Amino acid sequence: MSNFDIIKERDESFVAQTYGRFPVAITEGRNAVCFDADGRRYIDMTSGIGVNSLGFCDSGWIMAVTSQLCKLQHISNLYYTEPCGELAKLLCERTGMKKVFFANGGAEANEGAIKAARKYSFDRYGNGRSKILTLKNSFHGRTVTTLSATGQDVFHNYFFPFTEGFDFVTPGDLEELKAKSEGVCALMVELIQGEGGVLPVDKGYIQAAAEFCAENDILLIVDEVQTGVGRTGTLYCFRQFGITPDIVTSAKGLGGGLPIAAVLFGEKTENVLRPGDHATTFGGNPVACAGAVEIVNRLDDEFLADVVRKGEKIRERVLKMPHVTGVAGMGLMIGIALGDGVKSGDVVRAGIKNGVLLLTAKEKVRLLPPLSIEDSELDEALAALEKTLKEI
Ligand SMILES: *Cc1c(COP(=O)(O)O)cnc(C)c1O
Repeated sequence: MSNFDIIKERDESFVAQTYGRFPVAITEGRNAVCFDADGRRYIDMTSGIGVNSLGFCDSGWIMAVTSQLCKLQHISNLYYTEPCGELAKLLCERTGMKKVFFANGGAEANEGAIKAARKYSFDRYGNGRSKILTLKNSFHGRTVTTLSATGQDVFHNYFFPFTEGFDFVTPGDLEELKAKSEGVCALMVELIQGEGGVLPVDKGYIQAAAEFCAENDILLIVDEVQTGVGRTGTLYCFRQFGITPDIVTSAKGLGGGLPIAAVLFGEKTENVLRPGDHATTFGGNPVACAGAVEIVNRLDDEFLADVVRKGEKIRERVLKMPHVTGVAGMGLMIGIALGDGVKSGDVVRAGIKNGVLLLTAKEKVRLLPPLSIEDSELDEALAALEKTLKEI
């Protein structure tokens, strides 16, 4: 038996089989290069689904995390700790948002945003104005409430009853938004639908929607769980859309590999959640926050400009590859549309054989490489992708 077979067999015996895994066990890595349990080498164009912002085992991040780890790993939110406030200040200064609530994952951050939006409305208008609109084809998480917020019917099965008070509008259709705005406290959007197929929302639409929301005191929640933390070439994507959200949620890339999420509150919402209204045991964990401080500090203007440059390089090269009919996305969040009946899942499986780890987003091949990917690593990944597309 190979090392992989042993790992796989035990996983199948003892781990709840909720994931369709690829037949690879990754054991270690450096930046965008990693190795499996039998010593095979891969270029990672997934960053653990947009999580490892600085790749595998970045030395600055390891230093930040381990030096905190050697001092204090956790104490609870009954006490103050330094890294939590440091990260919150940094996020507010870099985004113009006013306050931060820390959570542990994207769905939990969105739950916090939903609670804050409903309470904001309750405090001002009382009961009966609690509806939240989200976009069709969106993805907001896997808890019962965030599934309810997700605008795809495939997620609305088995787990009944779902949370009430969500309705869906078509991206780009301002009239539908207006028609459905009765009793609504918030509009929640992804600016680029990630799981939905790397689909950027129209800038004119989102600006008009933001204006309509502001006029009607409907909060604008932007789910930046996937687009945030430099992924699209700015620290948060909303800046490129010229809007000022009332609430922004962030997770995936924020911890550079450790579980941390943030709900960023703007002027209207900064004081909505009061003591006792919301909490989470691990929220603001000092080790995760210390790692996140390093991540955010490293994503300066120069670094972000390089994210944009590398994204453009990928787009240019991929557009010339066989079967490719289009490339969508911004920065290093890229969706590759395929023609000739080529299936994205087949490309990912074949990519593994050619030493490149890829993602799908519905019918597209999705690339979310570490933001720190080197040009030499990128060249290697693109060559492996091209070879894969030629062979398929
Ligand atoms: C991944 C994702 C989520 C869910 O995040 P989890 O950490 O898996 O709970 C929510 N929204 C968006 C846009 C995502 O991409």
